[in-house]
Amino acid sequence: MTVNLLDFDLDGLAVFCQRLGEKRFRATQLFRWIHQRGASDFAQMSDLAKGLRDKLAGQAEIRGLTVLSQNLSCDGTIKWLFDVGDGNAVEAVFIPEDDRGTLCISSQAGCAVGCRFCSTGHQGFSRNLSSAEIVGQLWFAEHFLRRHLNRTDRVISNVVMMGMGEPLQNYDQLLPALRVMLDDHAYGLSRRRLTVSTSGVVPMMDRLAQDCPVALAVSLHAPQDALRDNLVPLNRKYPLAELLAACKRYLAHAPRDFITFEYCMLDGVNDQPEHAQQLIDLVNAHSDGKTWCKFNLIPFNPFAASGLLRSVPQRVAAFAKILSDAGIVTTVRKTRGDDIAAACGQLAGSVLDRTRVDERMAKQRTIVLKPVKEI
Ligand code: SF4
Repeated sequence: MTVNLLDFDLDGLAVFCQRLGEKRFRATQLFRWIHQRGASDFAQMSDLAKGLRDKLAGQAEIRGLTVLSQNLSCDGTIKWLFDVGDGNAVEAVFIPEDDRGTLCISSQAGCAVGCRFCSTGHQGFSRNLSSAEIVGQLWFAEHFLRRHLNRTDRVISNVVMMGMGEPLQNYDQLLPALRVMLDDHAYGLSRRRLTVSTSGVVPMMDRLAQDCPVALAVSLHAPQDALRDNLVPLNRKYPLAELLAACKRYLAHAPRDFITFEYCMLDGVNDQPEHAQQLIDLVNAHSDGKTWCKFNLIPFNPFAASGLLRSVPQRVAAFAKILSDAGIVTTVRKTRGDDIAAACGQLAGSVLDRTRVDERMAKQRTIVLKPVKEI
């Protein structure tokens, strides 16, 4: 069976090349061909000896993902649906802005965490993606965009692991993929331009801090355990006190960084002034006088199965003001790509669920929505 070289970080590729009797610098050349130049054919690699190219052709391949569909939003956002076999498909989204190009990548086919406000969570879970399938989304998007835009320099400046899946529940495959993205011989992203988003897998946050302390975003969505248990079921295993302590430990390995708390604004559920005050208390309880976190308020993208509604803009603005007035850096995320279902929480792909997601979700739909007065 041939080996897919997209699965390897540079160290892994060096070990593979060593088995072929080749020195490390050959692995570096090969790595640069694959990731910097987007090559998929060994015959193209003109500075590799013919003997090595023949060996590689017999034992290895550079196998990207098959694109099932591509959608372009009126705001320039592009969403791709990639086939990952057996009826599963995952999505990645490119979001162009004036000063950056951000790619949102998936880490699993589906997700077992089952957050109530997330389309992926409602689809259940099929399987983890391999490192090649994670990196393959970036490999495809970067080189597609360069060709399409007729550019030779880097198009994607930021990567966020915020697509389908909980990245820290696929840690062994995630780590080599992150290393490829950071490697100067590949995409050369800086640590702060590569963000892993987690719903709070505490032990793996500690491992990521040790192994590869990239920027960390935490899906918070509630200021107290009873509410978060319902919205983000992983909270029952790792409640808020443990999660926030892990955030502080993480920062010890990523000095001068912030934790970004993602907070999806749900009408009448978590968007009241008392919730904002509880968040302030939570942040202050873990503060040592320095700013250590910021909040990103996300307008919810409603879908029928969630039983939830989007907070009105005035309420989002009022909530942001309460946090800001307390000295907490707070932004409201601009919705991008919602005309192609590419906005936050809308990624759905196609998942052959193995986890009886409908039963799990039915149990979660117990929260009573409070009537909300207009402000
Ligand atoms: S928000 Fe993230 S962790 Fe929660 S169900 Fe969706 S993909 Fe999974």
